[in-house]
Amino acid sequence: MPTATLESSKAEGKMEYVDKVLEITKKRNPGEPEFHQAVDEVLNSLRPVVKKNPEIEQLNLLERIVEPERQIIFRVPWQDDKGKMQVNRGFRIQFNSALGPYKGGLRFHPSVYIGIIKFLGFEQIFKNSLTGLMMGGAKGGSDFDPKGKSDSEVMRFCQSFMNELYRHIGADTDVPAGDIGVGGREVAYMFGQWKKLTKLFNGVLTGKGLDFGGSLVRTEATGYGCVYFCDEMLKDRKESFKGKTVVVSGSGNVAIYAHQKATALGAKVVAMSDSNGYIYDKNGINLNTIKRLKEVERKRIKEYVNEHKSAEYQEGCNGIWQIKCDVALPSATQNELDGNAAKTLVKNGCIAVAEGANMPCTPEAVKVFLDNKVSFGPGKAANAGGVATSGLEMSQNSQRLPWTFEETDKKLNTIMVNIHKSAKEASEEYGMPGNLVAGSNIAGFMKVARAMIAQGLV
Ligand code: NDP
Repeated sequence: MPTATLESSKAEGKMEYVDKVLEITKKRNPGEPEFHQAVDEVLNSLRPVVKKNPEIEQLNLLERIVEPERQIIFRVPWQDDKGKMQVNRGFRIQFNSALGPYKGGLRFHPSVYIGIIKFLGFEQIFKNSLTGLMMGGAKGGSDFDPKGKSDSEVMRFCQSFMNELYRHIGADTDVPAGDIGVGGREVAYMFGQWKKLTKLFNGVLTGKGLDFGGSLVRTEATGYGCVYFCDEMLKDRKESFKGKTVVVSGSGNVAIYAHQKATALGAKVVAMSDSNGYIYDKNGINLNTIKRLKEVERKRIKEYVNEHKSAEYQEGCNGIWQIKCDVALPSATQNELDGNAAKTLVKNGCIAVAEGANMPCTPEAVKVFLDNKVSFGPGKAANAGGVATSGLEMSQNSQRLPWTFEETDKKLNTIMVNIHKSAKEASEEYGMPGNLVAGSNIAGFMKVARAMIAQGLV
């Protein structure tokens, strides 16, 4: 394992501070391209901030911020329905607690390894900061695949996962939530096991069922929030969702509620996808069918065309970006929209893209959007509504008082409007007006940086 440090790198020559930290991060974390990509994107946009604030380099803040405070990796043994012993790997990366207890979702997907969890945890620090709530950054999960497993298998896995995780989390320490593959069912199984192991009933997990401490709007929050954010970008162009054609990738939690809110604001969603392929319905996709297929029956999206004759199904996910639209909301997974797809969207007249998923657009795609003046909302800002409402769930749990749907939705909307405002103002302050990628990174970073500086050697 390489043991590069800033001191050794400094001795090697006169590289710029940001470049040195990028080099060290890549050496220290080999074989983790998603983490490198996330760090690259954030640190590169911080260059003007580092120049303007010399104490960032003096206090070696960047090298500290890219190093997680704590990384936990554990074995998760479980028994399948045939009685066979299975084993998966569990992760929790507690990245940064400068602003509050660690907070971030759990992802269950076969592609999960430490590099994915680190990229998500790193992004989470700045996303949580942008919400204006007191939350540090963390992420966790497992390479377990819930797809095709029975309810009992998922339950046994979740219980085993919690048998280790419970030692490391707590309502004032670290509060996990859902992500890909972890929805209400999984959170409930984990909460049940937490309660059994600790005798505590508190807000240790968010995304809980409404009967046992969950918050209204949490299910809808990431999708709704993404649309609220996108609406702010559209307003800046004197536009709105009314009459717009929208493509939403994915058909999970984020995608479903992005569809719902975009439709409520007057748009028509014509395409959605899952990891096998995508559907196109020129009349607009019927959300009730999608919700039943994906949330209740847990089926593949291709089944949709059996019920809606105006719809077509195509194998493969990337083709969804060939469909002509005014607004694109990539809401499935990382790096699902590449440079070529971005060029096609621009050619087809797309004016706004907001990332419902984490890092769904490759760096090449982001450049295409910015170069062509497409309004672009990066995930750490545009999808922050999920964690923001998790923060609201924590507040309600501490108060032991549930808030109404309207009250919570209004708070979510205000948070998204404020995130957009902070990102926009930061982009203007640092001479990159309209660049919400840089603006979000800078606004999110500054608050964490100030807290870390104030807290001393952390
Ligand atoms: P879900 O598991 O509910 O849905 C994920 C969707 O993306 C499914 O349609 C899934 O298809 C599809 N998908 C997953 N992996 C791939 C892949 N490799 N290629 C193509 N499609 C894929 O997850 P969420 O909706 O919760 O999360 C989606 C994204 O949003 C993630 O990036 C997540 O990190 C991000 N996010 C989620 C938040 C939340 O509150 N849930 C908060 C902030 C960000 P299939 O069913 O075939 O697997």
